[in-house]
Formats: sequence, C-alpha cells, structure tokens
Amino acid sequence: MSETHHKGFSTRAIHFGYNPADHQGALVPPIHTSATFAFPDVAYGGRCFAGTEPGYFYTRIANPTLALLEGRLASLEEGAGAVVFGSGMGAITATLWSMLEQGDEVLADLTLYGCTFSFMNHGLTRFGVTVRHVDMTDPANVAQAMGPKTKVVYFESPANPNMRMVDIEAVSRIAHAGGARVVVDNTYCTPYLQQPLLLGADVSVHSMTKYLGGHGDLTAGAAIFADAELATRVRLFGLKDMTGAVMSAQDAHLVMRGLKTLTLRMDRHCQSAQKVAELLERHSATAVVHFPGLPSFPQHALAKRQMRQFGGMVAFELKGGLQAGIRFMDALQLVTRAVSLGDAETLAQHPASMTHSTYTPEERQAHGISDGLVRLSIGLEDIDDVLADIAQALAMAERGSTVGKLVAQAAQAPDCLEAV
Ligand SMILES: *Cc1c(COP(=O)(O)O)cnc(C)c1O
Repeated sequence: MSETHHKGFSTRAIHFGYNPADHQGALVPPIHTSATFAFPDVAYGGRCFAGTEPGYFYTRIANPTLALLEGRLASLEEGAGAVVFGSGMGAITATLWSMLEQGDEVLADLTLYGCTFSFMNHGLTRFGVTVRHVDMTDPANVAQAMGPKTKVVYFESPANPNMRMVDIEAVSRIAHAGGARVVVDNTYCTPYLQQPLLLGADVSVHSMTKYLGGHGDLTAGAAIFADAELATRVRLFGLKDMTGAVMSAQDAHLVMRGLKTLTLRMDRHCQSAQKVAELLERHSATAVVHFPGLPSFPQHALAKRQMRQFGGMVAFELKGGLQAGIRFMDALQLVTRAVSLGDAETLAQHPASMTHSTYTPEERQAHGISDGLVRLSIGLEDIDDVLADIAQALAMAERGSTVGKLVAQAAQAPDCLEAV
C-alpha cells in the first residue's frame, strides 16, 4: 500500500499507519492483548526503560494496538502526538495533572461537561490549584481574566450541554500572549468537524466513548498534542503514574472500526440534526433552540468559520420549564432517554436532573443551564421517524402545560371551572 500520510481525511481514518503486508496480510490490524513485552536481553530492556530504545515494555505506557490508534488520531487532527486513555475523563485528568502544579490557576469557560466541572472545582482545588470560570464566548473576558498564575485555559466548543461556542483562534492568541496553554474538549465535533490545533490550541481532548467509537459499546478517551514533548510528559506521568487510566486493546480495535465510518456517520448526524433543529425552532412548545446551524444562533458566523459542519447535537429550552421537560422526556417512544451521545440511536437527556446534578442549583443557573433545557444527540435512524417522535413528544409537553395552566387558573377562580 502506498504511503497514507498525505491522503484525504477519510482515507487516513481507514488506513493511516498500517500496512497489511507487515502483518501476514491481515486486513484488520491485530489486537495486541499482551500486558507485558519480552526483552531479547537485559541491555535492550535497560535501553527501553531509559527511553533510548523505542520498544514496548508494558501496556500502561505503550502497546502496538494503542500506538496505531494514537498515530491515526494525531494524523486526523494534525497533532505532533496523541495519547489514548480508558475514558474521556482519563484523558482530561491525566492531561491537567501533567500540566499543573500547586499555586497555578486554570481559567475555564462557564459551561463544562459535568464531571470536568466536578474534577476542577471539587478535585484540582483540593491540591492548591485555583479554578476561575469566565464567559469565554467573548474572548475579551479571557484577556481581562489572565493573570501571572494562569497556566491553562480550558473550554469546550460547542459546550456540553448548551452549545455555547468559543473562538478557538482568538482565545489561543490571548492565552499564549499571557504564557498559558490552551486545552479544548473537542468531543462534540470530532477531528472531522473541527481541528483545534490548527486554530492555535495546544491540546485537544476527546471522549471517544461518543462519536469516535460511535456505537455506544466502549469507554475511551484521547488527548492530541501540538507539542510532542507535552504528549510524552502526559504519557509518562499523567497516564503512567497519576491516573493509570489505560485503554484496552480491544477497545482500541473498536475505536478504529468506528473511525472507518466516522465521516459517513458525521455527515448523516449533521444532516439530521439540522432538520430536527428546524422543527424545534418552528414549534410553539420551544422557547429557544441552541444549534450552530441555525441562522438565529448567536454564534452562527463563528460556527461557519471554525467548524466544517454544525454537528449532531441539538439543545433546546421548553417554554414550560422543568415540568415540560419531564413531560417531553417521558413521552418519547423511539428516541431513547439516556446520557452519552454520538451513538447510532437518537438519545435525549435533561441536564438539570441528570448530567448536571453535580452542579448545585445556583451553579447550574450561573453556568447557563435552565430547568427546561433538553439535549438531543441525533442518531442515524430514518429522519422522518425521529422527527415524528419528537413532534408528538413536544405536543405532549405543550398539552400538559396548557391543561396545567387551566387547572391552576380554575383552582384560583372556582367559578371558571366550566371553562376547563
Ligand atoms: C462524555 C464527555 C466527557 C467524558 O468522557 P468519558 O468517556 O465519559 O469519560 C468529556 N467531555 C465531554 C464533552 C463529554 O461529552
């Protein structure tokens, strides 16, 4: 097979770094399940441990199957190196443990994935790291907040769950001017829709549990680095010593299987999400729809600039708040009530009662998560079936609220009961 380094994105997602001729013709790369690796002699082993020989010696540090996936991810996102982990949180924690020390400060956006928020505010802060949240939708706020102790600027774009976006290029420029490095959670986009390192970020982290695996049957994470030296530090310290969140070779095989169809799946996720967002925007039950592909989305222009397409995630707020959210969720028949995202199945979740229950109610409000906010991960089913289910659930959410309002009015004015 010819060299794949300079081929197109889909070609690299399928072929990068692997030649069947080197593996008895096996089309699918072998899965190396071995935890440890034999040394031909003591001197070789010594050189491995000293880092002067690039051989494998223990899977928590490196493994041929994991290395193939790491090479592919680095290629897809134009990084100098990548490290894979047993979960997205494994990637995020190992990266931040490696980049920070006591006395340092992290600037984080207002909205973060629930467990990342928890790791920072209930974890890092216990070890002498200060975490400050600023609204990064305006890069000027980052410039204003940067201080001498700021070492890491961290955000998601679009953010989970409310789709707020951050200008990666502008914020990276500001962070670098102040001596900080930029870590972007690129889970929502995948390397296909957005390439943070090309926009100036230093690290792109992923939950591969989501679109990259793509089938809801594994947990995995990755960090992709602009700087190979930082990648090595995260591998030899954050992964090896701090978290031990090593990925299994079987899961690496499944992620590589998922990568083969990544562009096809993402194209379909994006197409269908656009249609769902348009239905939601037309519907009288919704107060606001958060989807980067809608011209009404406040950061639509930024989305067009920094994303290839607008993604498969849609968030919206129901007019009836918490109760309407619960009615909508319980009325769904095809769409599955579940956390996680990026699967073939369309999934719905209600952050106030699910993923963001780790926030206090005050924190939720401060971080822009309303009680009526519903998040949809649009799957790969026939779009008409998905639209029909969402439409009937919206009608239920709305009908419930109309009945509820009339009952409440009737209770206040009993002589109007006949009107119900
Ligand atoms: C799911 C998710 C994570 C955490 O990943 P796990 O694989 O569940 O550990 C981090 N960031 C975002 C945006 C996510 O959606």
